[in-house]
Amino acid sequence: MASGTRLRIAICGAGIGGLTAAVALSRYPDIEVEIFEAAEKLAELGAGVGIFPRPWEVIKKLHLEEELLRYTEAKPTDGPVPSFRYRRSDRAEGIEFYTLVTKGSLMTFHRPDFQNVLLRKLPSTYRIHCSKRLRSYSQRQGGPINLLFEDGTRASFDVLLGADGLKSAVRRSLLNEKVQWAQSENNWSEAAHITTLIEPSWSGTNAYRALIPADRLRIRDPHHRVFTQATQYLGKNGYIIAYPIANGRMVNFVAFKSQHHLEHSKYHEAWVCPTDKTEFLGMFRDWEPEVQALLDCVEKPLRWAIHTVKPLNSFVSGNVAILGDAAHAMLPHQGSGAGQAIEDAYILGLLLGHPSTTRATLSRALQIYDDIRRPFSQRVQERSRLNGQYFTLSCQEIDFNAIPEHEMLTKLKILGKVFTKNWEWAWMSSLGGSVEEAMRLIESTE
Ligand SMILES: Cc1cc2nc3c(=O)[nH]c(=O)nc-3n(C[C@H](O)[C@H](O)[C@H](O)COP(=O)(O)OP(=O)(O)OC[C@H]3O[C@@H](n4cnc5c(N)ncnc54)[C@H](O)[C@@H]3O)c2cc1C
Repeated sequence: MASGTRLRIAICGAGIGGLTAAVALSRYPDIEVEIFEAAEKLAELGAGVGIFPRPWEVIKKLHLEEELLRYTEAKPTDGPVPSFRYRRSDRAEGIEFYTLVTKGSLMTFHRPDFQNVLLRKLPSTYRIHCSKRLRSYSQRQGGPINLLFEDGTRASFDVLLGADGLKSAVRRSLLNEKVQWAQSENNWSEAAHITTLIEPSWSGTNAYRALIPADRLRIRDPHHRVFTQATQYLGKNGYIIAYPIANGRMVNFVAFKSQHHLEHSKYHEAWVCPTDKTEFLGMFRDWEPEVQALLDCVEKPLRWAIHTVKPLNSFVSGNVAILGDAAHAMLPHQGSGAGQAIEDAYILGLLLGHPSTTRATLSRALQIYDDIRRPFSQRVQERSRLNGQYFTLSCQEIDFNAIPEHEMLTKLKILGKVFTKNWEWAWMSSLGGSVEEAMRLIESTE
């Protein structure tokens, strides 16, 4: 340990959450950081990711904006912009019914570009260890965190941040710790409840993801709508989202197939795997022509059986905290899982970086993180789930099975307003209030 080091922090997982946490911590020279990543090399999924104005504030605060803007056609603005067009498309002739106008742009990227920008921002003193899959950790109150890796090696740190995604090993260890404490107090119902939270749960929805080379789609339909406007094509049992990324060279395509009644049932196949488009073509057979043009251009889709993390009672145990998908993996219907990971990372950085945070006061700083970020991110989880219902025309306020055709457009417009209301936190609210609250709480303990 270098002299003058205040804290040594291990980050487990080098996805968007882990790397943003590392960038946020790099502003404090007296904090040492090492990153442990299970994969052999750092390679984000070849797919798109969109960042809404609220988490984009963090991007600006971490001075990542200028570099990221080189990889997108989207232009950041504070004014109202059309972000998505909505069509009801499960019919021969689609109905254009709504334009989602957001205050500020949705910034869209090819994930590897996003990851590379984060990596380039890290100080050269930060070590990233690949092929290091965490198995578990142990800690004694106030003592260091001992990490055990699958290759049998060990390491010890003052803090462990678990940014290791949906199947998080840190979450498993953290919840097992809580199960043991509950058992030691003979609180068997609490122990049983916590046990049910360890494994992710299937949402009943599968996503089929692909990148379509823009040139391929241009041959099929030179003026396809998605070249100029991000679009969602809605229908009863699923929907398609498509938007340009990588400076217009590719179109990010995701088709969702939803069976809401199967939520929380067990998914028996691989959760993420290459598949063939015949697996979902049948479902979209009768959809409008511009959907067919997209489907014709899809090659080598990946099937993503969407699993989520059930709402946890805490993201923290002693000197360990989880963030991002490890803490609150959600349905992707508000395009906000990565954004929420970015917000977690930023607040953690501020609290751990605060000069009053020392080995002695660490657990207090992490507790403040939990108090601030857990309720918010869990509300986003629930809102994302709701959008998934709305995008498949399932809405308490409107029964789409019983609407005469002449009322369809009016009802679809109402649906647009309902999902906008549910979603507008992402561009109408600011992280500023959480930052102020975090600072107020950490400073009140000095
Ligand atoms: C179809 C779809 C579309 C989406 N679109 C958007 C969008 O537009 N906008 C948005 O904000 N979000 C979106 N999301 C959600 C977003 O992808 C995730 O929320 C985000 O990537 C989570 O980042 P993370 O760093 O928490 O986890 P991950 O990206 O999963 O990273 C976890 C890292 O930890 C590593 N790891 C795992 N286990 C271990 C271990 N035991 N030891 C060490 N390392 C380990 C993994 O290899 C990985 O590198 C989408 C999700 C899906 C499924």
